[in-house]
Amino acid sequence: MEIISLAVTKIENGHRAAARVAYAGGGEEDLWFETPAGYPPSSSGNPWLALLLPLAATLREGISMKLPVDIELLRGAENLLLLWKHWYPNLAVVPIDAPLQSRPAQPSGVASFFSAGVDSYFTVLRRPDAQYWITVQGFDMPVTANEAFARHRERLSRIASSHGKTAIFVRTNIRQTRWKEAHWEALAFGPALAATALLFENYFSEVLLPASCAADQLFPWGSHPVSDPLFSTTTTRIVHEGLYSRLDKIRFLAQYPEALRELHVCFRGRDGRGQDDSNCCRCEKCYRTMITLELLGALEACSLFDREQFDVRRIRDIFVTSDIDEGFFAEIRGFALQKNRPDIAREIATAVGRSRIIRRLQRLSRLRGLWRINTYVLPRLMRNALT
Ligand SMILES: [Zn+2]
Repeated sequence: MEIISLAVTKIENGHRAAARVAYAGGGEEDLWFETPAGYPPSSSGNPWLALLLPLAATLREGISMKLPVDIELLRGAENLLLLWKHWYPNLAVVPIDAPLQSRPAQPSGVASFFSAGVDSYFTVLRRPDAQYWITVQGFDMPVTANEAFARHRERLSRIASSHGKTAIFVRTNIRQTRWKEAHWEALAFGPALAATALLFENYFSEVLLPASCAADQLFPWGSHPVSDPLFSTTTTRIVHEGLYSRLDKIRFLAQYPEALRELHVCFRGRDGRGQDDSNCCRCEKCYRTMITLELLGALEACSLFDREQFDVRRIRDIFVTSDIDEGFFAEIRGFALQKNRPDIAREIATAVGRSRIIRRLQRLSRLRGLWRINTYVLPRLMRNALT
C-alpha cells in the first residue's frame, strides 16, 4: 500500500489530515483525522506509519510513502511486525519504504487518552502531569454518532476543566475504511491510539495509553506493554501506563465521588447498537463493573449506572467469552468471598461454568453434522445471556 498524498486542510473549528492510500490489490481511499483549532496535526509520516502497520501486516502488503518518518519509529515498526508475527502467525512481516525525518524540535507536554472509563480515569488521576486529555470519536464511538458524542464531549470537557486540564477531541473515519480489516481488539486499537498520539508529536513528549490488563493477566492484544512503546519516536514517548488489575483500578476510583458519578464503560449503548454516552447496564462489561462497584458499596454513587437494574440472580446469565475473561471473574469472585458475599461468588461460579459449556458447544457446532447445536441448542442457552 502506498500513501500517494497527504492533505492537511483547515475545516470549521479545526484541521483535517487526510491521507490518500492506494492498495496493492487495487482501489484507493482517504483515511482522515480531524484535530481541534490550535492543534494542527503533524505532517510527517509518523502517524500514518503507526496507523497502517497493522493493516499492512494483515493484508500482507508493504508500506510505501514519501512522507518522512522517524528513525526510532522505523526501528520500532520492524520489531512490531516481528512481535505480531510471533503472536499471530497469519500476519506478515512486510517491507517499509519511507525517507528518514531529520530530528524535529523537542516538545514538552504530557497527554493521556481519556474516555471516563475505568482504565483512563485511573490513569489521569494517577498522572496529574498529563495536562492534555485526548478523546477520539470514530474508535469505540462511531464517527456518525454525532449527537451522543456531543453529550459525551460536553461531559468530558467539564471533567477535564474541573481538573484544570485541556480536553482535546479528535474525529476519524478509519473504522469506516479498509483499515477495519485489521482486527481491532487483538491488533489494531493500540496502533490507532499511537497514530492519534503522533498526530500531536509537535506538542507532546509523552503520551499515555491506559493499560487494559494487570501485569499477571497479559496476553497478545492490540495494546500491550511490549508493543505500545515501540511506536515511540525520537521526541515523543508512547507509554503503556498502569499494569494494575481492573479490580484494583475500580477500588482506587471508588475514593473519588466525581469518578464514580461520571464512570462510563459500556460499548453497547442504550439501543444495543454501539457506544453512546450511557451505560446500558445489560451487557457483560456493564454487569462485570457493576458487581465490583456493588461489592465496594459504590454502585449507588454511580449516576450513569442504574442500580435498579442490578440483580444478583442475573449474574449467572453473564456469558464469559474466554479463558482470559475467566481470569477477570476469578478475581472478582475472590473479592466477593473476602467481602462476605457468598451469594455473588456462587452466581459468578455458575456463570463461568455455564459459559464453559456454551463455549465447548460453540466449538463442537463447527464440526460437520453437528449444525443442530447451532440451530436448536445454543439459541436456547444464550436466550437470556448478558453478552
Ligand atoms: Zn453495557
